[in-house]
Amino acid sequence: TGTTSPLSVPPKKPQPWVQVVGHAGSFHAGDDGMLLKRHTEGEQQCLQRLMEDSLRSFVPAYHGVVRRSDQDYNMMDDLLAHFSCPAIMDCKMGTRTYLEEDLAKARERPQPRRDMYEKMVDVDPEAPTAEERALQAVLKTRYMQWRETLSSTTTMGFRIEGIKKADGVCNTNFKRTKSRDQVIEALQDFVGSDGLVLSGYLRRLKELRLVLESSDFFRTHEVVGSSLLFVHDGTGRTGVWMIDFGRTVPLPPPLTLDHRTSWVEGNREDGYLWGLDNLIDVLTDMLPL
Ligand code: ATP
Ligand code: MG
Ligand code: MG
Repeated sequence: TGTTSPLSVPPKKPQPWVQVVGHAGSFHAGDDGMLLKRHTEGEQQCLQRLMEDSLRSFVPAYHGVVRRSDQDYNMMDDLLAHFSCPAIMDCKMGTRTYLEEDLAKARERPQPRRDMYEKMVDVDPEAPTAEERALQAVLKTRYMQWRETLSSTTTMGFRIEGIKKADGVCNTNFKRTKSRDQVIEALQDFVGSDGLVLSGYLRRLKELRLVLESSDFFRTHEVVGSSLLFVHDGTGRTGVWMIDFGRTVPLPPPLTLDHRTSWVEGNREDGYLWGLDNLIDVLTDMLPL
C-alpha cells in the first residue's frame, strides 16, 4: 500500500495512536485506548473466534462492531496504549500474501494488464519476459507471484512492511529488503543496542510459537497478509501481537494446515510458522555473544 506517512490522531488521551502501514482511511482512534478499523465480515469472524482461542493474549482484545458516521468498524484494543513514545514494526508473515482464491479469481478473466507491467518495469526493468515486453502487459497472476519474490516473503516467510522509530521517523521502504543481511540490518536498526529489547522480543515470539502450534484457530485457518506488530519503548517494555485478519479464511473441514509445509497450489499452506521459525533464528543470531 505504498508510502503511507505516519498518521497522528489528535490526542484526547496522552498517547496518540500511530499507524505504520495499511490504508490510512481505514482507522479511527477510539476512546479509552480503543482502535476502530473499517469493518469487514471476515475480520470480525476471526477476531470473535480468536477471543475464544488459546491465541487470545496474542491478539488485540475485540469489542464488537460499532457504527460511526454511516460506517461500521471493528473495535479493538489499541496495542500502543500502554507505551510511551513507542517504536513500532509491522512484519507481514507467511510465504505468500495473496489467497488461493485470489489466484483463482485472477485466472477467471486472464486479461493482460498494462498497469501491472508498468509497475513491474518501474521496480525491475529486467523482470518482464520477451513475450510480456512485446505485449507491454502482464497477467495479474504473474504479477502477484513476481511481487512476492522481491522481498524476503518467499525466501524467509516474512517481510518487514514498515518501521516507525521512537523519534517518529517512519520507513515503509522495505519492498526490496530481501537478503538475510538486509533483513538483519533493518531489524538491528529497529531494536537498537539495548539487548533487553531483543531478548524480550525473542521470549515473546517463542511463547507465540508454542501457542500457535496447538491453537485450534490457527490449525483451521489460512492466514495470509497477517502481521506481527512489534512495540517497544524507552523503558525496555516490549510486546508482539498478531494483527490484520482481513485475509485470514477458515478452511473447509476437515482440512487443516501445519503452516510449515511448502505451498503447492491447492494445499493452502501459508508458510506462517516457517516464517516465524526463520524470524526467531535471525533474531537469535543478533543476540550479543
Ligand atoms: P494492509 O491490509 O494493507 O496490511 P490494513 O488496512 O488491513 O492494512 P492493518 O494491517 O490491520 O491495516 O493495520 C495497519 C497498521 O495499523 C499497522 O501496521 C499498525 O501500525 C496499526 N494497527 C493495526 N491494528 C492495531 C492495533 N490493534 N493497535 C495498534 N496499532 C494497530
Ligand atoms: Mg496489514
Ligand atoms: Mg489487511
